[in-house]
Amino acid sequence: NPFEKVEVNSFSTVDKVFAIMSGKGGVGKSSVTSLVATTLCRKGKRVGILDADFTGPSIPKVFGLNENMARTGPMGIVPEVTAGGIKIMSINLLLEKKDHPVIWRGPILANTVKQFFTEVVWGDLDYLLIDLPPGTGDVPLTIMQSLPLDGIVIVSSPQDLVKLIVTKSIKMAEMLKIPIIGIVENMSYLECPDCKKIIKVFGESKIEQVARETGIPVLARIPIDPVFTELCDQGKVENYTKVKISLNGIQ
Ligand code: ADP
Repeated sequence: NPFEKVEVNSFSTVDKVFAIMSGKGGVGKSSVTSLVATTLCRKGKRVGILDADFTGPSIPKVFGLNENMARTGPMGIVPEVTAGGIKIMSINLLLEKKDHPVIWRGPILANTVKQFFTEVVWGDLDYLLIDLPPGTGDVPLTIMQSLPLDGIVIVSSPQDLVKLIVTKSIKMAEMLKIPIIGIVENMSYLECPDCKKIIKVFGESKIEQVARETGIPVLARIPIDPVFTELCDQGKVENYTKVKISLNGIQ
């Protein structure tokens, strides 16, 4: 049964599994995944990230692991570990040529994600965060049906909220009966470094209205910050301390 829930291997225990979802690409889903991970890690939690975004696997790069190759040990595939101690598995850690596209069909992608969950030696984790591919397609669907998710975090830009793209993600999670932990609005505004004026690049935010209408809490509103982009480019996202994203009381 392809929709049967899979489990981690006998060398691992994972307490909570959360997926990070977005209606479309480029809104900052991977960025939010890395910020949630670093926030939890600073609180002393044991955290792993399963990078399931095969179209643009950016997790290894922002943590400075892009040159690394995952190893296979006697117990299974060994995740890479970041400077701060976050365990990472990504297709980019298995591919020799990181700039080549992954031209695989949906079922193979979905199976690979399942294997990342079941065959990677995660060890003991408090949280495993899954960076989903953007949208509501085949791979997110299989992950949501076959991995034991405790909840979903939805990432959107102010424009997504206007265009109702985010509503699709919310509806999908609801249809699959997975609790939505909250929404993170990314690229909400820009603060002028000189005069501190707030510039709403993508217009007035609708996030509070969406939160009211859906009952889903807002976890964070993140500004556009060139310092963040630069740290990501340098592979030092763990050094960014300005934004913390807590999972709404879930410890
Ligand atoms: P997604 O995972 O949704 O495709 P990413 O998290 O990879 O999006 O972000 C896309 C690009 O935008 C990356 O280069 C990232 O560094 C940058 N970015 C995302 N959020 C912010 C932000 N709040 N401030 C500055 N740059 C950002």
